[in-house]
Amino acid sequence: MLAGRTLHMRVCAVLAVVSALLVACTPNDSGKITVGVKFDQPGLSVKKPDGTLSGFDVDVARYVASRLGYPPDRITWIEAPSAQREMLLRNGQVDYLVATYSITDSRRQKVDFAGPYLLTGQSLLVRADNTDITGTASLQRHKKLCSVSGSTPAQRIKDRYPGVQLQRYDTYSACVEALRNNAIDAVTTDDVILAGYAAQSPGSFKLVGKRFSEEKYGIGVQKGNDGLRRRINDAIEEMERDGSWRTAFVENFGAAGFAVPVPPPIER
Ligand code: GLU
Repeated sequence: MLAGRTLHMRVCAVLAVVSALLVACTPNDSGKITVGVKFDQPGLSVKKPDGTLSGFDVDVARYVASRLGYPPDRITWIEAPSAQREMLLRNGQVDYLVATYSITDSRRQKVDFAGPYLLTGQSLLVRADNTDITGTASLQRHKKLCSVSGSTPAQRIKDRYPGVQLQRYDTYSACVEALRNNAIDAVTTDDVILAGYAAQSPGSFKLVGKRFSEEKYGIGVQKGNDGLRRRINDAIEEMERDGSWRTAFVENFGAAGFAVPVPPPIER
């Protein structure tokens, strides 16, 4: 009897460990996975009028989901504006975020990151006929610059370029419309994002100057979810190894004219 009960307890203990592991690894048990992306960033992640999503971040997000066992029809997409990303993860409203999300030490206090899966850097977008903005130095002459609340580029301008009139909007597409309408002089964020807008409106805009930061895009997960983080890192590595990463890069950034880079090493 005692032996039987001990065995029973052991089996239960093992089952408890196994189910704890399953819970730790499986984003949720609803049979669906919820992924946060941008909806308005051509080349990276854009929601088209028919409701479908496309872009590099979307391809990465779909690849990761498939490796976690979720085919495309089991993904629920949620819009993740820059300023809401940490909150969406902390509240458990998304399982992970693939949303042009730079890995930074201050964000690491609140969330964890898999990756990085792409390297980029901050740059400037101006109207195609502009001649007086050639780089960050020209901004100090009281130029009106637009960026997005809760983003690293907006923070960097605030910290390092005090002479610039920074306007913070909720989305980069709103900044780009303001640029088109002459309400502002330039937009700043990562060059892959800016190049996507330039490619979408040929002849309207141009990128100027050099990259003036290094942004490493990571996949955001809830702080402490090491099991999910590890599985996402495995998926990114596999995407790079089997050629899907390269295909996604060419398909999404080809129009913007970027050469295919070597993917950055994963930071386990
Ligand atoms: N990569 C930068 C960031 O995470 C800018 C792009 C964005 O706002 O999504 O803040």
